[in-house]
Amino acid sequence: MDPHRLPRTAVPSRYDIRLEPDLATLTFRGEQIVTLDVREAVDELVLNAVELVIEAASLENDRGQTIRASVALDEAAERYRLALAGPAAPGPWRLRLAFRGTLNDKLRGFYRSSYKDQSGVTRLLAATQFEATDARRAFPCWDEPAFKAVFAVTLAIDPALTAVSNTRVVAERREGARKVLTFADTITMSTYLVAFVVGELEATEPTPVGRTPVRVWCVPGKRRLAAFGHEIAVASLRFFEEYYGLPYAGDKLDLLAIPDFAAGAMENFGAITFRETALLVDERAASHAELERVADVVAHENAHMWFGDLVTMTWWNGIWLNEAFATFMEILAVDAWKPEWKRWVTFGVSRAAALSVDGLHSTRPIEFPVRAPRDADAMFDVLTYEKGASVLRMLEQFLGPDVFRDGVRDYLRRHAYANADTGDLWAALGTASRQPIPEVMDAWIFTPGYPLVSARLERRELVLGQQRFTYLAEPLPGAAAAGERNQRWQVPVQVRVLAGGRHPVTRLLLAGGETRLPLPERFDAVVVNDGGHGFYRVRYADDLLQLLLARLDGLAPIERFNLVNDAWAVALAGLMRLTDYLELTARFKTERDRNVWSILIASFGLLNRIAEPADRPRLAALVRDRLAPAFTTLGWAPRPGEDELTRQLRADLARALGVLGDDRGVQAEAAQLYAGHLAGRETDPNVLPALIAILAHAGDAARYDEFLKRFKSAATPQEEQRYLYALAGFRQAPLLATTLERTVNGEIRTQDAPFVARALLQSVHARELAWAFVKSHWDVMDRQYPKHGLRRLAEGVTGLTTPELERDVHAFFRERKIEFGGKTLEQYLEQLRIAVALREREGAALSKYLARLV
Ligand SMILES: [Zn+2]
Repeated sequence: MDPHRLPRTAVPSRYDIRLEPDLATLTFRGEQIVTLDVREAVDELVLNAVELVIEAASLENDRGQTIRASVALDEAAERYRLALAGPAAPGPWRLRLAFRGTLNDKLRGFYRSSYKDQSGVTRLLAATQFEATDARRAFPCWDEPAFKAVFAVTLAIDPALTAVSNTRVVAERREGARKVLTFADTITMSTYLVAFVVGELEATEPTPVGRTPVRVWCVPGKRRLAAFGHEIAVASLRFFEEYYGLPYAGDKLDLLAIPDFAAGAMENFGAITFRETALLVDERAASHAELERVADVVAHENAHMWFGDLVTMTWWNGIWLNEAFATFMEILAVDAWKPEWKRWVTFGVSRAAALSVDGLHSTRPIEFPVRAPRDADAMFDVLTYEKGASVLRMLEQFLGPDVFRDGVRDYLRRHAYANADTGDLWAALGTASRQPIPEVMDAWIFTPGYPLVSARLERRELVLGQQRFTYLAEPLPGAAAAGERNQRWQVPVQVRVLAGGRHPVTRLLLAGGETRLPLPERFDAVVVNDGGHGFYRVRYADDLLQLLLARLDGLAPIERFNLVNDAWAVALAGLMRLTDYLELTARFKTERDRNVWSILIASFGLLNRIAEPADRPRLAALVRDRLAPAFTTLGWAPRPGEDELTRQLRADLARALGVLGDDRGVQAEAAQLYAGHLAGRETDPNVLPALIAILAHAGDAARYDEFLKRFKSAATPQEEQRYLYALAGFRQAPLLATTLERTVNGEIRTQDAPFVARALLQSVHARELAWAFVKSHWDVMDRQYPKHGLRRLAEGVTGLTTPELERDVHAFFRERKIEFGGKTLEQYLEQLRIAVALREREGAALSKYLARLV
């Protein structure tokens, strides 16, 4: 029997839970009655619990029978065994439990969060975070997604506080010194979706969507930051009711900003929790990127109310069904809400992130076997979210949006209040489209990696081929390779031929090794992956590439984005000379799309990490050469009528010029503009975060102290983040050392500290110092940080791109026997190898190229 799955001899259908949290003693007491269907005679019950003490357990039924149970904890398996004093016959039973636990500080289970109120006094609240397997830390339960049940929650709390749970409050009364709130029954749902938050909370006025009141909650004093999140919450809920063709199943929808929160947000049914930066924002003071983040996360969580909450994966291997869908739907909803944000173009950046991890030998298929809880946690990655969403987008475009939507509707209706697998989704989409979906899709979901589609000319024909793309020819020594070299996919390919004024598009399914397409006698260029939705890379033969580079104006922004992104990947893989890639970047000086620039800037950032220190000033000169013309045209000040993406581009270019390009003129102007901002002059909210980053890069100790003070007194979560990350952007060792100290001394929230340490590991000015610090503080960080903290921090090692540091990284992880679950660590080490290999292969050529440039 699988040691990680509970026996199905007894199945819960209802939990009546009463919890009494005490914020003064940081403990809670609980009592619960679980209604069980005993399926075969049993003399023991097995259920999940961690860090809970079960004080009493007994089983009773309507025939007046009571069976006492003695409890035994199996700590390693996160289970209790309840040994019954006598056998329980099949039929309905009620399990009574009394238990206690502590409100921990690890941001999981039932935990405490703290914040300073307006008079500077530290206050506490209690919140929950259960996904994947931490409901068992708050109440004993059958903590697997397929054990769906109704939850009836009662919270006995300090009368001065407020409590929110999944459903409306149906009764409130006093019991001695406690206020007792009873919440309505939930829908039939999984344990990981239960939530309660207790503290001093305030809410916006509810907005009705159909019969659902929607509210945003926060700690006192922050309600003025709730309007934007509230607006997208209402808009996206409306959008989803329409798209899914099913009304929201709950009786209310609350969105709560929690001061300490490990993830971005959590889709608890009817009581969605967020970290503050993902929900609260001052619309007038925020940059486009900060607003987009709030809109995305809110829409994503709302999408889960159907995908995930109403219909749930049977087991954690199917988590992609939840997350890929919510990510796909988030873009669809935000795109409908703000079409001018061009969200599907920006999505190219997310797709690129997935292509990058999925190009590793240490990647995994989207759907991957999960046994232990630790492996379930490792599933919440770019492959589940971004690759999953990309593949769904490709399928949606292939089937047509209406057909796809009809399939989704059918799937949701068929499996509402129950569980489903990937096969169920394919069946519904297959019925709607009358196409053999598994044949097309299974390789994308169940095998790792993706194809590199090659395009070359042969006489009057375009010849398309496919092979798996990997950056390295071989996996790292000792690492297992995922998948096979000769893998094939059914690749939905759209080819557009640019010929005079005509641009005919051909759709084909590239199934085998090679496909040929006749071309007209005269044509200007050929675009493979027309529209940019395909989850693959394209490698053009040089003659085809030159034709495209001469016709960049005939390409959509997402196509130019893919052109640069694929060229950069092919260069990293050693299939294109680095100097050829650098020449290619010179063709984009007049580029106006923010996403295209983001790839160019990211590639210069990586080169900066592998360049010899002596070459860095010359690389900075290259960055100025490529970026300055576009920035000069845009100027510092926004123009009337300019769209938000252009405003954000201005900020991105300024930041890259001031930091990577080390542009003294830009730094000086940034200092002036920032001084003007402090003096009350109006500053474009997009530019302000860039100014802060530039001034940190160029800054001294006085500037550091100023930014530290502003971090501590920030008026919005976004402002706090800007100054916090700026503390990692300075160049002087003594300043960086104090930032490192702050990642463990309590000055930075543990929800943020791992990310700050990660940024330091990736800074060429801080990385040696940071790596030494991380090594010597590993155990301290392990104790303090929330459970994904070290995994996120460790991603920073991909920035330690010297052969010496790489060796040391391997030695450290080997000696300490560090494991993050899944393939996380292997992926970091492979990414590090790719960068160091580029340095070894192309370092000398880069040096020579840069020397010629200046
Ligand atoms: Zn999600």
